[in-house]
Amino acid sequence: MPLWLAASLNNCSRCGTGLVFGAVDGDQRNRLVCPACGWIAYVNPRLVVTALPMTDAGQVVLIRRGIEPAVGAWAQPGGFLEIDETVNQGAVRETLEETGLMIEPGEVIGLYSRLEAAVVVLVFEARIVGGAFRLSPEATEIVAFEPHAIPWPEIAFKTTYWALSDWLRRRHPDLRPGDVMTERRRWEG
Ligand SMILES: [Zn+2]
Repeated sequence: MPLWLAASLNNCSRCGTGLVFGAVDGDQRNRLVCPACGWIAYVNPRLVVTALPMTDAGQVVLIRRGIEPAVGAWAQPGGFLEIDETVNQGAVRETLEETGLMIEPGEVIGLYSRLEAAVVVLVFEARIVGGAFRLSPEATEIVAFEPHAIPWPEIAFKTTYWALSDWLRRRHPDLRPGDVMTERRRWEG
């Protein structure tokens, strides 16, 4: 697992004893186990729900990120799914928070793993049904891009790149994703 995640798993959530990494009966892989009470700290990816909001004219809305990671780069609105909401509700809430737009999630464009961040990213295509652009510390700029004008070299995450590429292949097979090789270093963290 990523080191930053391992660093947050030191003690048993049930009794506070220090966790030990080792074999568990009936399990194929080693786990973090509490030697006092036997509690196992299972570590799984978290789900990030996101949307590609579409204008009626067929433009895709992206935000320029105002916070780390990838501050200053472009991404789709989205965030961690809360425990009491569906994926559709999560996408609607995050998009409203980060853009001011009301959306109606439609087709799933893709589901992408980003192992270094321990997340799985769900990407909906979404119809904009209300609201208006609203900037925030999270989104310092919001732009509706024509499909041929997506800012490829400044895309924040490889999951965003994959999603926009898959969307383009599906909706605009005549267009090709742009080159992002020069920015690849941004994705290594
Ligand atoms: Zn314990």
